[in-house]
Amino acid sequence: MDFYTTRLLTDAPEDITVAATLLREGELVAIPTETVYGLAADALNGPAVARIFQAKGRPMDNPLIVHVADWDEVAPLTAEIPENARKLAQAYWPGPLTMILKKSARIPDEVSAGLSTVAVRMPSHPVARAIIKASGCPLAAPSANRSGIPSPTTAAHVLADMDGRIAAVVDGGECRVGVESTVVDVSQPVPRLLRPGGITPEMLEEVVGLIEIDPAVTHALDEGAVAASPGMKYKHYAPKATILLIKGTSEGYVAYVNAHRGDGVGALCFEEQAAGLQVPAVPYGRQDDPASQAHGVFDALRRLDELGIQTAYAACPAEDGMGLAVYNRLLRAAAFQVVTLNE
Ligand code: AMP
Ligand code: MG
Repeated sequence: MDFYTTRLLTDAPEDITVAATLLREGELVAIPTETVYGLAADALNGPAVARIFQAKGRPMDNPLIVHVADWDEVAPLTAEIPENARKLAQAYWPGPLTMILKKSARIPDEVSAGLSTVAVRMPSHPVARAIIKASGCPLAAPSANRSGIPSPTTAAHVLADMDGRIAAVVDGGECRVGVESTVVDVSQPVPRLLRPGGITPEMLEEVVGLIEIDPAVTHALDEGAVAASPGMKYKHYAPKATILLIKGTSEGYVAYVNAHRGDGVGALCFEEQAAGLQVPAVPYGRQDDPASQAHGVFDALRRLDELGIQTAYAACPAEDGMGLAVYNRLLRAAAFQVVTLNE
C-alpha cells in the first residue's frame, strides 16, 4: 500500500477544489456527509475503488454505496428505475436513504462486489454535494473507518484510522445523523429494509406501503447463510472493549451495572443514568431521544477504548423508529451478546 502524508482540508471553496481534483486523479478522500464520514473514490474508476478496500481492510465481497448529487446521475448507473424508487427519492432525497437498484454496465465490479445490483444515495450534506459536483463523478464511499470498528463521525475519528493511508480528509464538523444511511432494496416488488438508519421503517411505509424487514437487521446470520446485504455478515462497529447489551428498565440497568462494578468495567448509558452509576460512565444520548443516541453512539464507542474500559454494559435503545438503527449498531458492537433483566 502507498504511504501518504494525509492532507487535512477545510470546507472552503478552494479546498473543495483540491479534494475534487484528487478524486478525479483516482485518489481517496474522506468527506463529511450527514450520516457518517465517507471514504470516497471515483465510482467509475475500478482501480481507485479497489484502493478503498485496501485502505479500510474491507473484504472485497462487501459492496459500496455510490453517491450522486442530482437525480439525472441515477439513470446511467442503473438498468431500471422502479416506481417505488422514484417515490422514495421524491420523499427523502437528498437524505440518509440508500436504494438498491439493478445496475448498469458502467458500474465496475469493485463497486458492486460482483452483484447484479448497485446501492445509490443522494446525500444532503452541502460539502458532500459540493465535492460530488466539483469532481464531476459519482463517488463510491463506504464509512471512512478501518473495517470492523465504529464508524467515524468527526474528521479526528477519520485521522485516527486513516492517517497515512489516504490522500486527504475534508473537515466538515460533526455528522448530524451519526449512523449510516437506511438501506432499502427496491429492485424487488416489495421493498426490503436491509439496514435501518435515519429514514425509519415507518417513514418508508408512508410512501411505498408495507415493506419487509430483513431478519439480519435484528438477528445474527446463521452460519453459512447468504446475506442479502453482504455487510451484515461481518463483525461490525466493535470497539476493543467487550460490549453487553442490557434489556430492562432504566432502574434495572443502573442496579445491574452497579452490582457488576469492578476493574475495567464501564457503562455505555443514557445521560440521565450517568449520575447513578458507580463505574466510569460514557453517555451516548438522552433516554427518550433516539436521534440524540444515533448522533452520539459511535463517538461513545470510541471513548470506551480511550478510557481503557474492557467490559461495557450498554443501555438498550428502543427497537422502533430511529431507535431501531441504534439498536442494530449496538447489537453488532456487542456481537449479539444480550442480557435480558428478570425484573
Ligand atoms: P458502508 O458504506 O460501509 O456503510 O457499507 C455499505 C452497506 O451497503 C454495506 O452493508 C453493504 O453490504 C450494503 N450494500 C452495498 N451495495 C449493496 C447491494 N448491491 N446489495 C445489498 N447491499 C449492499
Ligand atoms: Mg461501514
